[in-house]
Amino acid sequence: MITPATNTTPEVSILKQYIGGKWVDGSSSREIISTNPADNRQILAKLTGADKTDVLRAIDAASKAFPAWKATTPPARGRILMKAALLLRERKEELARLMTLEQGKILPEALGEMEKGITLIEWFAGEGLRLGGITQPSELAKNLLYTTRHPRGIVSIITPWNFPFAIPAWKIAPALIAGNCVIFKPASLVPALAVALVKVFEDAGLPPGVLNLVLGSGSAMGDILVEEPRIKAVSFTGSNEIGKRIHTICGARGIPVVCEMGGKNPAVIWEDADLELALGGVIKGAFGSTGQRCTATSRLILHVAIADKFLKMLLTEVAKIKVGNGMDTATGMGPAVDESQLKTNLDYIEIGKKEGAKLLCGGNRLTKDEYAHGWFVEPTIFDGVNPKSRLWQEEVFGPVLAVARADDFDKAIELANDSPFGLTCAFYSRDLTLAMRFTQEVEAGMVHLNSPTIGGEAQVPFGGVKGSGVGEREMAKEGLHFFTEQKTVFLDYTGSRRASNLY
Ligand code: NAP
Repeated sequence: MITPATNTTPEVSILKQYIGGKWVDGSSSREIISTNPADNRQILAKLTGADKTDVLRAIDAASKAFPAWKATTPPARGRILMKAALLLRERKEELARLMTLEQGKILPEALGEMEKGITLIEWFAGEGLRLGGITQPSELAKNLLYTTRHPRGIVSIITPWNFPFAIPAWKIAPALIAGNCVIFKPASLVPALAVALVKVFEDAGLPPGVLNLVLGSGSAMGDILVEEPRIKAVSFTGSNEIGKRIHTICGARGIPVVCEMGGKNPAVIWEDADLELALGGVIKGAFGSTGQRCTATSRLILHVAIADKFLKMLLTEVAKIKVGNGMDTATGMGPAVDESQLKTNLDYIEIGKKEGAKLLCGGNRLTKDEYAHGWFVEPTIFDGVNPKSRLWQEEVFGPVLAVARADDFDKAIELANDSPFGLTCAFYSRDLTLAMRFTQEVEAGMVHLNSPTIGGEAQVPFGGVKGSGVGEREMAKEGLHFFTEQKTVFLDYTGSRRASNLY
């Protein structure tokens, strides 16, 4: 059943840049067109892209706004963020529908992403009342030692298309509460949602110039967002290729940078696992959001004793996943975000076949009838995948699951760690000793026991090791601290004229 929203063709929105509190056209000659990945005939929004001159204007506006925003107390900043969160709660369904139309994920997933992003903004709004430092005893009598936190200045926030609301939210909210001014550059594939998010902050009363939106090609204007001397920190989420480039530039400039990048996350199902529980987790982890999650389950390691049984259960369940338009309540998996991601998925399916892995299900693009105008691919599983193969080692970012088997725990850990990535992982077992060993020995930033590889919560750090990320973790206190400079204050109140500091 199609919900009413898909029966009515939405009007094409004409989008603008948001610079210095004004909605303005971009200066480039490039038109950005946002289309529905489930039906690429449907144009959702158009705009003239920004170029370097727009980025410079945005930095000028942010520079002008910074002194007053810095002087605004953190609790007062928090109240603006809280107002934005309240407005977002009112607009949650509307924005979720827009997300499904623009990005393709199914509506329940879009609603879940909205809830997560709003919770993150609420959490960081509350940090306005806690943005303090620490006080420590001094070695010296009548001396007070304490720290304070200050904004870094103007920061660039560069985000991908796969979580078009939650990722901008978990970067923008801490940057603002800490008193920074922001240049926000979202992925070109999701401009309408970015505009909707920025509009909420405008409606919540954020002063002009504090948050600026530049919508344009990353390759054309990415460097200036990172190289401009007035940019004091960069927060990036996206591919390893771009992340490494940004990290190198920031390193050369000596400015703080966080790069959250790819993943190739393993789920290990042990012989004593609750297989029904594990089944639900693997389905959600591998095929939820069409596999377009940095935390997606893309490698499955099965204990040999349950491997055949589990794969049989998995194939039965995967056959029930209805691929389709994310607005359709029957749909379990939406389309790839665009033609390029669809091609990547199909290329890796061919690579898997050529590498000798056994295709258990899927492997095809869907093109008939309701699929004719969308970027649809079947959920795909390969068994017997060689750990040295590209299918095991490289991120696909689509609904393609690679399976291997292990007959003892050391082998399972070796398989799990045989990856250039280390974002997240899952271990399904009832054996507490093994589960705890897994948490100790696996190379990952996040570990899920008896739950899928996906997910994160506002109050705990999010991020990975190895090729999955460099710099401070995101979300939680760590995510906030990235956007602050610390100052240590040594206060001597002895009143003595003799210098007391011997260190
Ligand atoms: P991407 O191609 O690296 O793009 C990310 C952002 O960078 C986009 O806004 C893009 O703009 C911009 N960009 C492109 N070239 C740039 C340059 N030279 N300088 C500065 N910015 C530039 O990644 P994506 O395809 O959007 O996202 C998928 C990737 O993100 C996957 O690898 C996934 O694993 C990763 N991801 C990681 C996490 C995590 O937390 N670890 C979370 C989500 C996604 P345009 O759109 O205009 O090209």
